[in-house]
Amino acid sequence: MELTVKKAKLWMEALNEKIQKHKEYLSELDQAIGDGDHGVNMARGFQEVMNKLSDADYATPSDLLKDVAMVLMSKVGGASGPLYGTAFLKMAMATKNKEKLTEEDLTLAVEEAIKGLEQRGKAQLKDKTMLDVWIPVHHYMKQNSPIDWGNLEATAKGAMEATKELLALKGRAAYLKERSVGHIDPGSVSSYYLFQTLAETMRE
Ligand code: ADP
Ligand code: MG
Ligand code: MG
Repeated sequence: MELTVKKAKLWMEALNEKIQKHKEYLSELDQAIGDGDHGVNMARGFQEVMNKLSDADYATPSDLLKDVAMVLMSKVGGASGPLYGTAFLKMAMATKNKEKLTEEDLTLAVEEAIKGLEQRGKAQLKDKTMLDVWIPVHHYMKQNSPIDWGNLEATAKGAMEATKELLALKGRAAYLKERSVGHIDPGSVSSYYLFQTLAETMRE
């Protein structure tokens, strides 16, 4: 299964819907270990993404992903805007000029996104950030060809849930030290939604 421009747009629509629906939940999670705005940040950002995509045509998924990146970087404050912006920009750059993205292309795109996130946020695996979802998902993609998208979704979900027991070492949650343990990382949940909706799109 390949990711076309049409599918990339469907992915962003599904992700936006998921984020709008769970906006309060994302902010509640951030209330526990941050400043309580993750749902608001993501909902505003993806609403702007939808506005941008609705009146644009794209030749390649890369062009679409680049616009997503630009919107998120310019419209979303906090840590998550620049981080997700970087992730989408790196995915766009990794897939430049390709009309359709194969699973191999997507795997490479995720790998580049992770490099961008690491560079920008200086976090590592187990620091209790969105990387704790991105890295295991990438690992799964690299190990499985063809990708079983149901298993990929389960991998993302398990990785998201596993952030609960981690001690935060990056981001606002790190100020809480031991008190950050016992709460799921909000950015891991939004990243889970990102991969969940990608999996849904690729299965259809
Ligand atoms: P802010 O913390 O500025 O209010 P958000 O609440 O929108 O921004 O986003 C918080 C999320 O961003 C965290 O749950 C975490 O997943 C992610 N995050 C924070 N700092 C980093 C970092 N240095 N590297 C990767 N992800 C990070
Ligand atoms: Mg916050
Ligand atoms: Mg904030």
